[in-house]
Amino acid sequence: MTNMTDTDMYSKAAIIGVGLIGSSLARGMRAAGAAKSIVGYDLQADVRARAVKCGAVDAAPPTLEEALKGADLVIVSTPVGAMAAVLAEVAAKADDGALVIDVGSVKGAVVEAATSLGGRVHIVPCHPVAGTEQSGPEAGFATLFHHRWSIITPLARSDGAYLEAVKKAAALWRAVGAEVEIMDHLHHDLALAITSHLPHLIAFTLVGAADDLESVAEAEIVKYSAGGFRDFTRIAASDPVMWRDVFLNNKAAVLEVLGRFTEELALLQRAIRWGDAETLEKVFSRGRALRRAIVAAGQEKDVPNFGRDEKA
Ligand code: NAP
Repeated sequence: MTNMTDTDMYSKAAIIGVGLIGSSLARGMRAAGAAKSIVGYDLQADVRARAVKCGAVDAAPPTLEEALKGADLVIVSTPVGAMAAVLAEVAAKADDGALVIDVGSVKGAVVEAATSLGGRVHIVPCHPVAGTEQSGPEAGFATLFHHRWSIITPLARSDGAYLEAVKKAAALWRAVGAEVEIMDHLHHDLALAITSHLPHLIAFTLVGAADDLESVAEAEIVKYSAGGFRDFTRIAASDPVMWRDVFLNNKAAVLEVLGRFTEELALLQRAIRWGDAETLEKVFSRGRALRRAIVAAGQEKDVPNFGRDEKA
């Protein structure tokens, strides 16, 4: 984590959409001394009041215009489906030269929307690969981005002011503890389709299938969930609106990885039907190897059972 110096400090940061990610960024920025003041704007008056009450932001004015006034840093942390409209409004109403960062989980749709908005403000599309299944301003915490990757997918602009804005966005992510990678937006969408979007789709499907299985009672599903099911329910408990928007906006990449996934599934189905022990063992061994690689890269702790204390 790098603390920002007084000269790097923003005078006012405006967080548009003060949910899990927006409020975590606000808290992380405060811990890093990244902005003199941090205000939030959200659609609902109730969310705005809660964002101030729980200490995520210093103030939450009732209009977007007021939140943007004098802001040299704008974070757009709404669901992906709202991004195009919010970015257009921010591009029209924010101060000249403001750095505008979005945190959407899909980048192609955001890059497309941002590209048509002109260069009065500098929009730098980003995706912090960090999160939990919770939502809202109370769910955020300052260390959410520590040792996680934040992927920047810059617009196709090569002017000096824009390149400087990309550098500043990278510095901000480092200040809140993240590591930064620059990537093409289409590559981002394919990579995240396999590492994040497909796992969520599988979790939603599994929970739906369990729900439909009338011969197994709900009480049994809950009782025996430690058999693997409960780990999927954590993912399946994620915000439905956020995930609806991810699948609506990353259609091509998700359909591509879903095709490959169903081929793998058919292979396993066949191996089970024909008692093909070798294939089953071979496929399952790849799972262990990948898990070890994730632990070795510091993206997961090497503790059994996800670190749950079963005695507690
Ligand atoms: P969240 O907790 O639901 O927060 C989003 C907030 O934005 C909600 O309070 C929502 O209000 C508000 N909002 C919606 N439309 C708005 C608008 N037009 N203007 C102002 N506020 C608006 O969601 P989140 O998990 O922080 O996700 C925010 C973004 O981060 C999404 O784009 C998501 O893809 C991305 N992201 C999420 C994760 C994760 O794990 N959660 C990780 C990385 C990136 P309402 O509830 O009233 O609609």
